[in-house]
Amino acid sequence: MKLADKVAIVTGSGRGIGRSISEALMAEGASIVINDMNEELCKATTEELTKAGGKVLGVVCNVTDSASIEKMVAEVMEKFGRIDVLVNNAGITRDNLFMRMSEEHWQAVIDTNLTSAFKVTQPVLKVMSKQRSGRIVNIASTTGVHGNFGQCNYAAAKAGLIGFTKTIALEYASRNITSNAVAPGFIDTDMTRKLGEEIIKSYTDKIPLKRMGTPADIAEAVLFFVTGGSYVTGQTLEVNGGLYT
Ligand code: NDP
Repeated sequence: MKLADKVAIVTGSGRGIGRSISEALMAEGASIVINDMNEELCKATTEELTKAGGKVLGVVCNVTDSASIEKMVAEVMEKFGRIDVLVNNAGITRDNLFMRMSEEHWQAVIDTNLTSAFKVTQPVLKVMSKQRSGRIVNIASTTGVHGNFGQCNYAAAKAGLIGFTKTIALEYASRNITSNAVAPGFIDTDMTRKLGEEIIKSYTDKIPLKRMGTPADIAEAVLFFVTGGSYVTGQTLEVNGGLYT
């Protein structure tokens, strides 16, 4: 129980990778904040994790909306009184080739995948700074490192998130706060399932480990930055089955 008495916020944790990260942190004894925009999903996940024995607070919050975030942080402080771990995980895709990319889809992805991290991290860092400790993990993507066809908006947002991660690492090291990124490759969640069997197979064939990643594979990497890695900050760990393109 490496996280007993610790409190963790994982954004976009009603399902997918965020939920799996929450479960892994909970298994190490952390109190967990489940956050999702979808009220029913947020409630259902919160109830399931509570039944499994966790100390869980469910908060419906849109991470693009500053007022909604302030309310979430206030609720967390009221219930738990501290924040030790922040995982900026919420994300969306709106794929299209560059010339067909609408400004609306460009902006939606930048807002949800990049600006949200700025908005959520600011109030959380105020709390962590006072505590003189904290762990921040941003969920980037291999697309942010290498680029990907049809994902110029997503690649720009995730590359931005990696730059953000490195700068927070520099500015907050003196307060004993680390900031790292995990860059998943091709992971089996709703986000990738919507691509359809044919595309999934063509991606999977290229992966040296010959399988899609699981949300638990990503949770394992996050756990390293949160429970160990005290001398590691500003890093991006690719978790991609060996596919570095
Ligand atoms: P899912 O689509 O399965 O889940 C995304 C989660 O983010 C949902 O819980 C969703 O909430 C939430 N979310 C989206 N927008 C907001 C918002 N504005 N406010 C609050 N919550 C929001 O995706 P994954 O689990 O696959 O992805 C998780 C992260 O991992 C993302 O950042 C993604 O970019 C990244 N990633 C995923 C990869 C993959 O192959 N799956 C690869 C590389 C990176 P709701 O249920 O309300 O829609």
